[in-house]
Amino acid sequence: MARLTDPITILKGIGPSKAKQFAALNIYTLEDLICHFPRAYEDRTRLVSISQLQVDQPACFRAVVMQTPQTHHIRKGLDITRVQVADHSGRLKLVFFNQKFTTGQLQYGSEYIFYGTLTGDYAGYQMTSPAFEAIDSQPLMTRRVLPIYPLTAGLSNGAVMKAVQQALLLCDPPEEILPPQVLSQYNILPAHLAYGAIHQPESMEQAQQARKRLIFEEFFVFSAGLALMRASRAQKKTAPYRKVDLTDFYRLLPFTLTGAQNRAIGEIATDLQKGTPMNRLVQGDVGSGKTMVAAAAAFLAIQNGQQAALMAPTEILAEQHYASLSRLLQPLGIRICLLTGAMTAKEKKLTRQAVEAADADLIIGTHALLSDTTVFANLGLVIADEQHRFGVGQRAALSAKGKDPHLLVMSATPIPRTLALLMYGDLEVSVLDELPPGREPVDTFLVTESYRARINAFIRKQVEQGHQCYVVCPAVEEGEALNLKAAETWAETLQQRVFPDLRVAMLHGQLKGAQKEQIMSAFAAGQADILVATTVIEVGVDVPNATLMVIEDADRFGLSQLHQLRGRVGRGSGKSYCILLSQNKNPETNARLKALCKTTDGFRIAEEDLALRGPGDFFGSRQSGLPVFRVANLSCDLGTLKQAQEASVAWIETMGTDDTPQGKALRGRIRQLFSRSQGTMN
Ligand code: ADP
Ligand code: MG
Repeated sequence: MARLTDPITILKGIGPSKAKQFAALNIYTLEDLICHFPRAYEDRTRLVSISQLQVDQPACFRAVVMQTPQTHHIRKGLDITRVQVADHSGRLKLVFFNQKFTTGQLQYGSEYIFYGTLTGDYAGYQMTSPAFEAIDSQPLMTRRVLPIYPLTAGLSNGAVMKAVQQALLLCDPPEEILPPQVLSQYNILPAHLAYGAIHQPESMEQAQQARKRLIFEEFFVFSAGLALMRASRAQKKTAPYRKVDLTDFYRLLPFTLTGAQNRAIGEIATDLQKGTPMNRLVQGDVGSGKTMVAAAAAFLAIQNGQQAALMAPTEILAEQHYASLSRLLQPLGIRICLLTGAMTAKEKKLTRQAVEAADADLIIGTHALLSDTTVFANLGLVIADEQHRFGVGQRAALSAKGKDPHLLVMSATPIPRTLALLMYGDLEVSVLDELPPGREPVDTFLVTESYRARINAFIRKQVEQGHQCYVVCPAVEEGEALNLKAAETWAETLQQRVFPDLRVAMLHGQLKGAQKEQIMSAFAAGQADILVATTVIEVGVDVPNATLMVIEDADRFGLSQLHQLRGRVGRGSGKSYCILLSQNKNPETNARLKALCKTTDGFRIAEEDLALRGPGDFFGSRQSGLPVFRVANLSCDLGTLKQAQEASVAWIETMGTDDTPQGKALRGRIRQLFSRSQGTMN
């Protein structure tokens, strides 16, 4: 017997070089391997006779090899092997490309199980490169539900399958952490069955059950953790704020707040007078004016003799907040300072001294603000901008900073209410569902490649009018189709062939932080006309002079993500446009994209996205700032998530008495999840 913590190198066939490939998938131990779940399945259980095979419908069949396979060397790098097989119902031609070695195993007169897809036309039917196994062999590639794993260069699906199979034989799966009554009440597969079934299901239904169980487990642990965090913070005491008069603040505002902004500020003021730390999320679409809500909260903290810290996800955003809030709050005698990594060591030191000596009231910076080197004299309020980059773990870590400061997180990702309940179980939620008056919506168009020349002309026209443009390309993941326009090559093409006289800049996720910010600020300063980028520009960047966004292969993005991206334009006085390019002919996809052209209401778009794609997409760790979910981000249904949440809440109430090994293991898992998630920033 092996242990879950043993390295995968104890398995047959995994030496140092294979281990390296597995490491690229973050798989080091048997447990990692067992928790490397299939991303999909192929149902290969259907067994038919040759005469029942149908074009384009993959199936298994049992047949005898009627001749020794004939391989012809066509040219360098191309061998074609042909062989004929038959069963009682008929004969079939098989064709293999460059598989001389494997087809060499097919013995004349022997019987095999094949799996493949029939192709054919008037000239006859055939099957290309079917998988095959001897009839007395263990079903590995045929006669089963085949798991399809996330892979990496050099690692085949078969190699992962074999490794997982060995691991499951060698050690017990992870222990059961769900309470027995939960298993029976929600009809959940127990752990010892679920891990086997998710990798080697006997049917698609069983695979589904296993997946449901694992999703349930993840959400149970997650939402129990959030509930515990909420409960522990609710027990903390803080001095209630006495001064909640915002008259001075309102007097200085250059505009009237929207009803939604006022409502959110009112909710915050109520929280701050309670005597327990505030835990509030302000959710508002791009441009809904969250910064002013944050400013009001900071004003209240400072009025009550405390310091406030505002954290932005990037230095560039921190600088933007610093500039706009200085303008607003300095006239009130509030002392504001900026603390970012771009400052010199001496500047940083001086600023930190001011913070420690209570010579600064509002401190603006990146997440580095929370590092140990910054000591606050009297931190009363922490505001985190763009919450989806601010993980649960950081929220938890906050309580350790200052004396249980109030927490306000702001998010521009409109999350449907049903999901928000799950994802922000530890937070109260205020919604800014109103935009400041006078905003002109961004005109959005869905077009195909045939519009390319017109798009290019339009880009040029915008630039000639003194405006700037974004061109967004999908990030290229390994193994993705080649025709997606990688930002890098596309930027080159645009610069060299299409706009040699314009200034094209390029930004993608693989660049270093400082480099990214440099490119971004250069663009903000008007030093480039066109910025070609991946989705790294999604978060909060404000370049009011940018009036056009072209999104390449728009069908590759989620609706909410497209909406986020589109929020980068339409921030200034110029009329703004968003052009979605897609070659996709799928009517559903096009309906989705057209929905985006028709509405600019982020919540409606998010609801639509949820209905069309399921909750999985909301759990991409990058979008949500949640711990990395292993199963839930693949596909899951809302029903399971709701059940898990309900069950976890019930468990919390009885948890104190649960001293079984399973109860202890569950508590251990919760702690582990929340400590690990501290590392998932960005
Ligand atoms: P976001 O919610 O995306 O963070 P911001 O706080 O950056 O939005 O606000 C976007 C713009 O709208 C800013 O230029 C801000 O000054 C302006 N703004 C905010 N509130 C109002 C309001 N009530 N009336 C008019 N303009 C406003
Ligand atoms: Mg903002």
